[in-house]
Amino acid sequence: MATPIGRLSDLGLRACDTLKHVDVVAAEDTRVTRVLLDHVGARPTLVPSHEHNEARSAQAIVERLRAGQRVALVSDAGTPGISDPGARVVAAVHDAGLPVIPVPGPSAVTTLLSAAGFSEPRFRFEGFLPARPKARRERLAVLARSDAVVVFYESPHRIVETVEDLAAALEPDRAVVVGRELTKRFEQVHRSSAGALPAWLAEDPDRRRGEFVIAFDAAPPEVSAIEAADAWLGALCAELPVRQAARIAARATGLRANDLYRRALALRGARDDEADESDGTAPRDA
Ligand code: SAM
Repeated sequence: MATPIGRLSDLGLRACDTLKHVDVVAAEDTRVTRVLLDHVGARPTLVPSHEHNEARSAQAIVERLRAGQRVALVSDAGTPGISDPGARVVAAVHDAGLPVIPVPGPSAVTTLLSAAGFSEPRFRFEGFLPARPKARRERLAVLARSDAVVVFYESPHRIVETVEDLAAALEPDRAVVVGRELTKRFEQVHRSSAGALPAWLAEDPDRRRGEFVIAFDAAPPEVSAIEAADAWLGALCAELPVRQAARIAARATGLRANDLYRRALALRGARDDEADESDGTAPRDA
């Protein structure tokens, strides 16, 4: 079940009722959840269930459920299983043939999206980006071509570097929304262009503090078509000569066959002359 991501009064009525009526609450950190239980005056048995004991705790929870106990699973904040432990417990309960009942509520990802103002309905949730700069830039290069809105979590330690990488990966006018300290006292939802974001962040040290969730708009069609073309090329090049693969991918995506031919060679890591030997010349665009 979901718990607040900051403001305790965001705990829903049903969630409150659940905490009061279950026998056991399995919590990521029992000290954090104790505060919530005290807030609502609930006195269930509190047991730890976190990433380091999840397999063991999953079995213990299944046994409790089989014995007829009611068990709620919570993380420190937000929705369990969303960049938080919970999936293994939930899978074990399903595997045991027992019901899993979601009690929905806050999650930083949906909280930001509801205030972001993107008309593209699809979104791609990334959890946390890689912490290492090279891996993060590579991931952002892929995400920059996403035809869905992209949302990810970021820590205050990396926010400056990540925003700089984001500005480098996106077109300067791509819309980005930063949610900081959502639902809390110093909550901020800031929408700007990717190009303007590093300067905005540098302007005030307070803007670099707290918890962050960031979303950016889907790529313009000509950019997102490249992602689709890569998928086509990846599959087709395994079966067909590069020239033919590029022609089919061009028909499927509307991109130029010549461009896709060069892209396929780059993706395959092959040198042009190597491909020329096996494949002949580049295809003619339709
Ligand atoms: N399960 C949680 C959820 O449903 O949102 C997320 C857990 S994840 C370990 C924690 C990260 O979520 C934080 O580091 C931050 O990036 C983001 N986050 C959580 N609460 C937030 C808030 N109030 N404002 C902005 N971001 C938040």
